Amino acid sequence: MTLHIPFDNTYARLPDGFYTKLGPTPVRAPELIAFNHDLAEALGIEGTADPRLAKVFAGNAIPDGAEPLAQLYAGHQFGQFNPQLGDGRALLLGEVVGTDGIRRDIQLKGSGRTPYSRSGDGRAWLGPVLREYVVSEAMHALDVPTTRALAAVRTGEEVIRERPMPGAVLTRVAASHIRVGTFQIFAARRDGAALQALYDYTVARHYPDAKDPADLLQQVINRQAALVAQWMSFGFIHGVMNTDNCTLSGETIDYGPCAFMDSYDPETVYSSIDRFGRYGYAAQADIIVWNMAQLATALIPLMPDPEAAVEAFTAQVHAMPDLIRAEWERRFAAKIGITTPRPEDKTLIAELLTRMQQGQADFTNTFRALADGTARDQFLDPAAFDSWAEGWQARIADEPDPQALMRQVNPCVIPRNHRIEQMIEAAVAGDDQTFHRLMDVLARPFDDLPDAQDLRRPPEPAEVVQATFCGT
Ligand code: AMP
Ligand code: MG
Repeated sequence: MTLHIPFDNTYARLPDGFYTKLGPTPVRAPELIAFNHDLAEALGIEGTADPRLAKVFAGNAIPDGAEPLAQLYAGHQFGQFNPQLGDGRALLLGEVVGTDGIRRDIQLKGSGRTPYSRSGDGRAWLGPVLREYVVSEAMHALDVPTTRALAAVRTGEEVIRERPMPGAVLTRVAASHIRVGTFQIFAARRDGAALQALYDYTVARHYPDAKDPADLLQQVINRQAALVAQWMSFGFIHGVMNTDNCTLSGETIDYGPCAFMDSYDPETVYSSIDRFGRYGYAAQADIIVWNMAQLATALIPLMPDPEAAVEAFTAQVHAMPDLIRAEWERRFAAKIGITTPRPEDKTLIAELLTRMQQGQADFTNTFRALADGTARDQFLDPAAFDSWAEGWQARIADEPDPQALMRQVNPCVIPRNHRIEQMIEAAVAGDDQTFHRLMDVLARPFDDLPDAQDLRRPPEPAEVVQATFCGT
């Protein structure tokens, strides 16, 4: 049976200035590394046994109904406004409406140069492709809103980075690729008609009940507040929260230098280009507010009375930290077995985190061990944990089943940096088994699988990954 993707495209119907229509650049020798059959089924894709699969997801064959295009956007990168970015190495093939009724984009990443490539080659190498595949699917399994991975293909070509690396193409699936930076480009150009068209499109696609731009802003703020609090509850560091990497849908997007923290330190930064820790672990709660302020600014021209709108939007943005705090408290309370947080639980959580930092406790393993009664072993000074645990035990005595709750929200396995690095090294050497095993285990992160204990172990000193790199 031949491959059938039930495309139903809407972005391609937006005005010309939103994108450039062009096809992918074929590669020498497409070879499928991974295909997400469950996701394909949920998207209504049929005929996935088709031998053309590798060709289609390498960009060598355009499937029926696809209308490939590179999207235009702008964005603040590390606080600096770049008035024109756009898909420099990605192409939207089109959209499908899944069996759940939700419309999603199917995008090739690493598919060749576009008018927005600037000095880039439009390609991706195997490392970032597999990193995004693993981490985005792991985030999905953790129930974090995220883009997903449908396919990864080797190109049979080399791409030149610090040295020649094997090339690859990722197929990404997203609720949409509308970014804060998509609003910013039309606002910066003072193109009111385009801004209005983008607003109407975004409301129809993601927030059908939004009454006006203020309401849209609020709903995006709500989703982003919940998202960042959830990231933090898993020790996740996005690493490059530029406004072009911040979606209107509320999904996590762009897994470049992202990383999960091993031992707990709120100042943790992995990204090699984040020299001032702008996007460090704890800073994420501040930066998302800054990003929402940029969205608010871009929405102002849509308002009939811009001056009044500035005041109203400012108040909405200023209220965001409280929303994040509330989400954070709810998530972290659950992590210590508390269903409904009380005001004094904040202190209980903060005191545990302080002791974890001082005791160099592993973030993931400590929380999981709380349920198993072995958390004290995670601390350099177990007595420091004991002194905290007294008050904690007294508090959770009121809870119906704290152990079950903790096992529900505290994963056993996360994609640890050193495991990702090892997986990439193996794949570069031609061994994909490490990748497939990681994927199998990460699909069930809350299950304590007896044969996956090695993936729970924090890195040995020699294995610690010091820096992660952008996904180029
Ligand atoms: P990112 O850091 O992945 O969010 O990308 C920022 C911008 O750089 C986007 O416009 C990308 O399309 C562009 N870009 C990143 N890598 C490449 C590449 N290899 N070739 C062309 N453009 C790229
Ligand atoms: Mg990006």
